[in-house]
Amino acid sequence: MAEEWYVDGLRFKCTQCGNCCTGPEGAVWFTEEEGRTMAASLDLDEATFLRRHARRLPQGWSLKERKTVHGFDCVFLDRDTVPGKAVCGLYDARPVQCRTWPFWKENIDSPEAWEAAKQDTPCPGMGKGNLVPIESIRIQRDELP
Ligand code: SF4
Repeated sequence: MAEEWYVDGLRFKCTQCGNCCTGPEGAVWFTEEEGRTMAASLDLDEATFLRRHARRLPQGWSLKERKTVHGFDCVFLDRDTVPGKAVCGLYDARPVQCRTWPFWKENIDSPEAWEAAKQDTPCPGMGKGNLVPIESIRIQRDELP
């Protein structure tokens, strides 16, 4: 296999702007196991969690979104608790899709793809902060199908 272009690692440090948790209408995918983890973190039974916070799409389960002036925010994006920041309301129980951003396959396919994800989101944390080593990038990259 050819060596990844990010063999020397990539810089990333989340600034808690919330941009990756909003934007155009979309989906925040989660598995049934992740749903149970999120439900437990909110002290809800699974059925109540799904009814309140999720929607069933043809491809699987997604968290609901709510329309705000910023776009379609994930239902758990919290813009109130920390002034000037947008934080995840269930950070410790968040699904893989959220935990592995921005190291999704499509974002790191090429330097151009990385730059496009950075500009389009826009994600001010990409290219900044700590150097994330390739071993960690590979693990995160390969967590999503
Ligand atoms: S867009 Fe980037 S910097 Fe902003 S919250 Fe998401 S990961 Fe953090």
